[in-house]
Amino acid sequence: MKTNRTFTMIKPDAVANGHIGAILDHITKAGFKIVALKYTALSAQKAGEFYAVHSERGFYADLVNFMSSGPIVAAILEKDNAIADFRTLIGATDPTKADAGTIRNLFAKSIEANAVHGSDSDENADIEGSFFFSAFERF
Ligand code: GDP
Repeated sequence: MKTNRTFTMIKPDAVANGHIGAILDHITKAGFKIVALKYTALSAQKAGEFYAVHSERGFYADLVNFMSSGPIVAAILEKDNAIADFRTLIGATDPTKADAGTIRNLFAKSIEANAVHGSDSDENADIEGSFFFSAFERF
């Protein structure tokens, strides 16, 4: 299933630091079309559900706490080769290893507070997009 769509969140650190506009600018200038967009927040329960795949990892409790610590921006993005191209645009999970000019290199504070989420597969992009958006909220 190739959808040419990916899902992203601007995480609480980047929202709190005033980077929403700059990050959306990077995303649209890189050729991604915004299909859906929402300013919202995750409860601890919802953050736990979203990151359930990491529930056995040592950092899970911290991650859930961080992701529910403040508002986020959720979005569905469209572009040819969206999953891979967006992962390239955001850079490595650990911002100290992210290439120069990537969103995490520019805006992330730490491996946890790393500014943005990007789906790792078409299947997960679909699941994650549906976690936040109904069919009536996609354009
Ligand atoms: P991603 O696909 O690049 O977001 O990375 P992962 O799917 O491996 O991890 C999901 C999220 O968990 C990351 O974006 C970070 O916010 C957080 N995370 C990953 N590794 C670590 C870690 O070693 N320590 C902490 N505290 N958080 C981590």
